[in-house]
This record gives sequence, C-alpha cells and structure tokens, in this order.
Amino acid sequence: VLPSGVKKMIINIQALTKSEQLNFEGEHTLLLDEFSEQAPISECNVKVKGTVTRDGDVYTVTGNVYTVLTLQCDRCMKEVGYPLHSSLQCVFTADVTAMEEDVKPVLQFSIDLSDDIREAVVMEMPMKVLCKEDCLGLCTKCGSDLNSDACMCHQGEIDPRLEGLKDIFCQ
Ligand SMILES: [Zn+2]
Ligand SMILES: [Zn+2]
Repeated sequence: VLPSGVKKMIINIQALTKSEQLNFEGEHTLLLDEFSEQAPISECNVKVKGTVTRDGDVYTVTGNVYTVLTLQCDRCMKEVGYPLHSSLQCVFTADVTAMEEDVKPVLQFSIDLSDDIREAVVMEMPMKVLCKEDCLGLCTKCGSDLNSDACMCHQGEIDPRLEGLKDIFCQ
C-alpha cells in the first residue's frame, strides 16, 4: 500500500492483446529516498506521457517526462524550482525465457515504469544549481545571504581599522 498522494506509473497492457498500440498519460511520484547523493529537497510529481507498442511478446515504451524539481542553490541554499524534461525509452517482455539485458519482465499484465522514470529524471539533473547566474552566496564568516543582507565581514578584512565595526554590523 502506497502512502497517500504517492502515485505509481504502472500500465495495464491487457488491452494490447487486441491492438498494437496504447497511449498513456499520468503522474508518478518520486520519493526522496529514490535518489542518491544528488537529490532534490522534496519529493516530486512527474508527469508522464507516452506510447506502448507491442510486437509479439515485446512491449516498447517511448514517452516524455516532465517535472519541476525543488533543488537548493549551491551558493546561497535558497530553494530553486527547476523545470526538467526528459525522455523515456524502455523495453519489456512477456516471455521471461527471452530476457535480455535492459529488457524488463511484464508482470501480471503490467508494465512498471518506476525505475525508468527515476532514471530519466536523474539523467537530466543539473550538476550545478544557482538561483541566479550572479548569486553572491552566503558570507563564509557570518552566514548572511550576500544577495540581500549587508555584511561588513569582508570590508573589515580590507581595512583593519574597521575591525571594531565588524561586531556592530555583522552579528
Ligand atoms: Zn543563490
Ligand atoms: Zn558576514
């Protein structure tokens, strides 16, 4: 049983016994523990849209995923909404004796896209996240956000005569 609000993208392929193609559209929830060291700061709902094409026992899925990840600015730690697009391309088979690498089994007439959606999102995650190109980050001394707060720490470094003011301005 999934926690409330958590959606899984599992496609029932029973309708494909009669036709050769099935369009699908839905949402899938990626939880925080599905990511490794590089992770968003909250779970995300991924919009998924695509097509399953059947060829005998083989089901090929192609589609697109879209989400807005909540990431953290590498410099100032502020939350950043990061729109992410990626594509899905995966293969399933109903004939488990014909399993190959990168081909997943069809279980109970269902295709579970969980792993593929996670991989599609992780693949497009940015190496570096900034809230804006010229984010000034946090002061290494007092921790204030240099984008919005006046901080006297570095001015104090430049002119030792202002050293005494540092404690007044920067607490
Ligand atoms: Zn920032
Ligand atoms: Zn400071």
